Amino acid sequence: MKAEILSIGTELLMGELTDTNGSWIATQLPPLGIQLQWVSIIGDDLDKLTEAFTRGLERSDVIFTTGGLGPTQDDLTREAVAAALGEAPTVQQEVVDNLEEYFAGRGISMPSHNIKQAHLIPSAQFVRNRNGTAPGWWAEKNGKMIVCMPGPPGEMQPIWHEEVAPRLRELVDEEVTVTRNIKTLGMSEAAIDEEISEFFGHENPYLGIYSKADGIHLRVIARAKDEETARAMIVPVEAAITDRLGQFIWGYDAETPEEAAGQALTDHGLTLATMESASGGFLANSITDISGSTSYYIGGIVATTRGMLLANGVPSRILEENGMASAETAMAMAYVARDSMEADYSIAIAGVIGPEPVDDQPVGQVFVAIAGKRHTRQLQFRTPPRRIVIKRRVSNTALTELRKLIVAEHEAL
Ligand code: AMP
Ligand code: MG
Repeated sequence: MKAEILSIGTELLMGELTDTNGSWIATQLPPLGIQLQWVSIIGDDLDKLTEAFTRGLERSDVIFTTGGLGPTQDDLTREAVAAALGEAPTVQQEVVDNLEEYFAGRGISMPSHNIKQAHLIPSAQFVRNRNGTAPGWWAEKNGKMIVCMPGPPGEMQPIWHEEVAPRLRELVDEEVTVTRNIKTLGMSEAAIDEEISEFFGHENPYLGIYSKADGIHLRVIARAKDEETARAMIVPVEAAITDRLGQFIWGYDAETPEEAAGQALTDHGLTLATMESASGGFLANSITDISGSTSYYIGGIVATTRGMLLANGVPSRILEENGMASAETAMAMAYVARDSMEADYSIAIAGVIGPEPVDDQPVGQVFVAIAGKRHTRQLQFRTPPRRIVIKRRVSNTALTELRKLIVAEHEAL
């Protein structure tokens, strides 16, 4: 089944609102075996909308829309669907009754404009919206479908899960798509490409390679008549990737570096402390993004000046001899954090965040030190010289490195 999405609203075209609905719906379609072919943004303009629906009916089996179902004059999705299908909307009394009840429940009488939301064409049915006044529309004509949902994500997503996805699941007995995301860090895109080259260039299972802030992701996508078959197609590709890139893999699917590290700490009942200069608390923030992180994360020190490093116990001799941005200082910070907070592991981050070089080191040069009870790890590398990129890269790398060290120490044969 070929699909397209129309995200409707002039505010989207003006750049005032980002089309998150379009990308959210896009993520829901592959598991249903529905192939998304187009995503368009269209303003609140009856002619343009009608044109989009007319074109969509020619080239797609199903059109999903969000937005333009409100009660105001600029909400024209219903009118455009009616025009494209050549039908006239009429008022449905039962929906008027529902709307009146809804407003009565809030102690106000229904604004007359809301009548618009009770209109329907013969080819369409209402789609229940428990979280707002605008019901959706589900139209079917000549083997084509148009599914219209309200714009607010808090209304659209429940409608999708409760009403739309179950109906689609019944209709689509074609193919199911299963995706497996394998996340690596520490190997370049080109090197990975070379290592597993024979898996690229096939349609099914398809292997994609993507460079992200937390490393290189490999996405295996398989299509088959059912989920089990699709999963089985992924197995040999994943096995080969694990075999060849194993030590660089830190996570799967939607997992983040902070989740992967948190899981490793939890699995072995270990604790963590941090000390950061260059990353300014980004690492601590990432770690505490994870619910339950207080069970393993003791705390973190953000020391962005020499004085604060000294005050927290980094030896002055080390700072004098090596400067703030150095591997030696990062290691000393890691010891301080580990010992002062009595943690099993600590991570320290030092480096140069800009705008000026520090201690002859260029902007983007970073130093990570990890101190465990038995082993330590040191790492230094250079990231692109943008503040947020530096913070994100170095924090992600530190967390994946911590996970790797814990696995090596606690899960080795
Ligand atoms: P509408 O149904 O067009 O009146 O949209 C109502 C509200 O839904 C907008 O003000 C936005 O807050 C939200 N919204 C509409 N379309 C989108 C979209 N494509 N992505 C994210 N939010 C949206
Ligand atoms: Mg709108």
